[in-house]
Amino acid sequence: MKNIQMVDLKKQYAAIKEEVDKAISEVIDSTQFIGGPVIQNFQNALEDYLGAKHVIPCANGTDALQIALMSLGLKTGDEVITPSFTFIATTEVIALLGLKPVFVDVDPDSFCIDPDKIEAAISERTKAIVPVHLYGQAANMDRIMQIAQKHGLKVIEDNAQAIGCDYTHADGSISKTGTIGDIGCTSFFPSKNLGCYGDGGAICTNDDELAHQMRKIANHGMEVRYYHDMVGCNSRLDAIQAAVLGVKLPRLDNYCDARRKAADYYDVAFADVPQIKTPYRDPKSKHVFHQYTIQLEGVDRDELNRFLAEKGVPSMIYYPVPAHKQKMFAAFNCEDQELPVTDWLTTRVLSLPMHTELETEELNYICESIKAFLVKS
Ligand SMILES: *Cc1c(COP(=O)(O)O)cnc(C)c1O
Repeated sequence: MKNIQMVDLKKQYAAIKEEVDKAISEVIDSTQFIGGPVIQNFQNALEDYLGAKHVIPCANGTDALQIALMSLGLKTGDEVITPSFTFIATTEVIALLGLKPVFVDVDPDSFCIDPDKIEAAISERTKAIVPVHLYGQAANMDRIMQIAQKHGLKVIEDNAQAIGCDYTHADGSISKTGTIGDIGCTSFFPSKNLGCYGDGGAICTNDDELAHQMRKIANHGMEVRYYHDMVGCNSRLDAIQAAVLGVKLPRLDNYCDARRKAADYYDVAFADVPQIKTPYRDPKSKHVFHQYTIQLEGVDRDELNRFLAEKGVPSMIYYPVPAHKQKMFAAFNCEDQELPVTDWLTTRVLSLPMHTELETEELNYICESIKAFLVKS
């Protein structure tokens, strides 16, 4: 079998090469590499796509989260509730700003923060909740927003893995993930569902005042040129990245469909395999499958991972060590915190190749390879 990729950016580029090359060379010809109409156009297009009042492009998804937290005016030691089962950026920025991450366990089906466990983690110092729409499926935003409202907390959605996901509220209305909380943050890292050709990120909000603050923070705390009102940072999306994103954004829904189609194939292939639990599909959330992550029962996951590598099938463990067990958080003494679902999931999840160009032949080979291992073991 030819080279199967976890994420096949080459094949995707080949399909849009002409448009992308043209958009990039227009930026180079203009020499307007920072700021300018290409950024503005992408910002407007993303606002329209998301149905968000304000989009603030920035340098990457980690900065997006950092700037969002900075805009809330929190004080050292204030607490932010977040899952431990996530990419480290979500929790790292909390600690970086002198805030305290308070880890809450996740739901074993959705992999997202368990709303039933949030209230027990709220203290007098709790100021915000940062849910993560992990692997491309929304956290239970209706419940999270209810809890936040009741306790006067801000909500920052980490939407880095779920851009394009539709969330259906209890009243039947639909929102894009990232636009439900006070602020939504996303990443355009190349392998994300809407990836650029370098680093990029964006923040969105419907709140005029927060938008104003975040634009300032991302620009050295500056509103009037060379007058700096607050300590900010420097975080920009550059024009070449915006040009690539401008070509890809109109295709995002098709990309999500292609991912769902691959996910459907896996679902069917593993439907009668007792050792594999396929991803839960929450009827409230239209999964965009940033990852297709199975849970293995009674199988040596790490051995399967190695076996597949030998067969030319990449697979990844997202994430082998949850945040609360990372050395970087030793000062919070959270290593022994009981997060049973999180700890259990880290031993049994395995993500399979997932991208927009997966062919039936490849999917078949991946599934047959996995089944071959299960028969053998
Ligand atoms: C990728 C990712 C980020 C960070 O994005 P970068 O652009 O790499 O900084 C944050 N949170 C989650 C859940 C991610 O998957």
